Amino acid sequence: MTCLCGKDLTYNEAGLSKKFLAGGELLCIRCLAKRLDVSEERLREKIEEFLRAGCKLFVKE
Ligand SMILES: [Zn+2]
Repeated sequence: MTCLCGKDLTYNEAGLSKKFLAGGELLCIRCLAKRLDVSEERLREKIEEFLRAGCKLFVKE
């Protein structure tokens, strides 16, 4: 899986895209942060939150 910017996606980046983007679009964390107008740091916190909630779209990195 590759982002629009050409970067290979990590499992967690794909997971974030599935959570936050409609239509099956997949973006890396940097492009996703820009798209959602939030910081990358905030998205990393969201990954931690989803992990704690037991969401299978994310893995401990
Ligand atoms: Zn990207």
